Amino acid sequence: MANFQPATNTHPPSKDLFERAQQLMPGGVNSPVRAFRSVGGAPFFTKSAKGAHLTTADDRELIDFVCTWGPAIHGHNDPDIREAVAAALENGTSFGTPNPYEVEMAELIVELVPSVEKVRMCNSGTEATMSAIRLARGYTGRSKIIKFAGCYHGHVDSLLVKAGSGALTLGNPDSAGIPAGFAAETIVLDYNDVDGLEKAFAEHGEDIAAIIVEPYPANCGLILPDEGYLESLRTLCTGNGTVLIFDEVMTGFRVALGGVQERVGITPDLTAMGKIIGGGLPVGALGGKTEIMDHLAPLGPVYQAGTLSGNPLAMAAGIASLKKLKATNPYATLEKLGAQIRDALLDAAKAKGIALQIPQVGSMFSLFFNEAPVRDFNDATGSTTDHFSKLFHYALDHGVYLPPSAYETCFLCSAHDGEAIEQAAEVLAAGIKKL
Ligand SMILES: *Cc1c(COP(=O)(O)O)cnc(C)c1O
Repeated sequence: MANFQPATNTHPPSKDLFERAQQLMPGGVNSPVRAFRSVGGAPFFTKSAKGAHLTTADDRELIDFVCTWGPAIHGHNDPDIREAVAAALENGTSFGTPNPYEVEMAELIVELVPSVEKVRMCNSGTEATMSAIRLARGYTGRSKIIKFAGCYHGHVDSLLVKAGSGALTLGNPDSAGIPAGFAAETIVLDYNDVDGLEKAFAEHGEDIAAIIVEPYPANCGLILPDEGYLESLRTLCTGNGTVLIFDEVMTGFRVALGGVQERVGITPDLTAMGKIIGGGLPVGALGGKTEIMDHLAPLGPVYQAGTLSGNPLAMAAGIASLKKLKATNPYATLEKLGAQIRDALLDAAKAKGIALQIPQVGSMFSLFFNEAPVRDFNDATGSTTDHFSKLFHYALDHGVYLPPSAYETCFLCSAHDGEAIEQAAEVLAAGIKKL
C-alpha cells in the first residue's frame, strides 16, 4: 500500500494551487468567504498551522486572527488535541454503533452548558440549527420562526434570509434556490428592537414555533445586545409557548465555558453548538430541555440522524478541547488580550482621525469603520468597508491575517501570547495610519 505523504514543503505555491482549484471547485473553494471576494485578490493556501500562526504554501508565517473561524481556541495543532485524536485513531475511525466517546462528550456538554439536559451530536453547526428548528416545530406544532437580520445560522434554507457575512460578502443576501414558501415561514426582525419583536408576537404569537438568535451576533461583525434585550426574548417566548433557541455555534465555550447563556444568566430552551466542541474536527450538537429533546427520534416523532454523528475521532478531539478549557480556564487572559488589541487599534484610529468602532467581548472583536456604535444589521452594513479591505491587505502583506471580510469577527486563541498581540497591534496600527 502506498504510504500517505504528509504535507511538508512539497506543495506548489498558492497561485498555482488556486488556478487548479478554480478549474475543479466552484470559485476554487469549499466555503465562499475563503475566496477573498469581499476584500479582493486571490486567497493563500495554508499548508500547516501551529499556535497562533499559519504557514502558507508560499512559506510565509502569518499571525492568524481567524483561528479556523473560531474552533482553534487553544491555538492551531494543539498537542493535547493531536494526541487524543492519535490515540483514538488506534481504535478505528468510525464504528456505526454507539461508542464510549459519545457518552463522555455528552457528559461534558451537560456539565458545562447551563441549559442543556440532553444532547444530540451531529457534524456541523448547520445541522445543529436545522435540527433545532425542526425540533421546535415538531414540539410546538407551529410553523413560523423568527430570526434576526445579520444573524447567520448556517446554510439552512429557511434561515438563509438576511444571513450576514457569507451572503453579504457576495452582495446576495438571499440565496437562489430557496422556494419563496420556505422563506415565508421566516419572520426577519432587527436585532436589539424590542418593539418589533412585541409587534410580531402580537400579530403571529400563536404560530411562532421558535426564535433563533445568535445571542451575541458575530457573523455581521460583532454586535452586542442592549441591556435587557436577551431577557425580553426569554420573556416573550415563555409567555407565548415559543421555543427560544440560542445559536451558540460561535459563542459556545468561547465567551465563557457555558457560552453567552452563562454570562447573561438566561436559559434558552434549545442550544445549537459547533466549532469549539469539535476541537478542529467537523462536529455540531443540539442540546436543551429533556422535555423537548425527547421529541427526537427514536423516542419521538422528529427525525434526525447522521452516519458519522458521534464519530470517535471527532469526539476525541472535542473532549480534549473541552477538558483543556476546563483545566486552563483561559477566559480572563483572553479578555485581557482582547482589550489590549482593541485599545491599541482605537488609539491608532483616534490619532489618524478615523471613525472606528471595535465591539469586543473576550477573545472576539470586530472592526466597524463607523461613526456610531453598531447595534444592528443596518448599522453594520452602513460602515465603510473600503477601509477594512485596505487594512486587510496591508496586514496580510505584513504578516497578519484578518478575516477576509469586513463582516466577520476576529478571534484570539490561548496561543496569542503578549508578543504575538504586540506584533499584530503594531502592524494593524501602522495599517490604520495609512488609510
Ligand atoms: C459557523 C456558524 C454556523 C454554521 O456552522 P457550520 O459548522 O459552518 O455549518 C451556525 N451558526 C453560527 C452562529 C455560526 O457562527
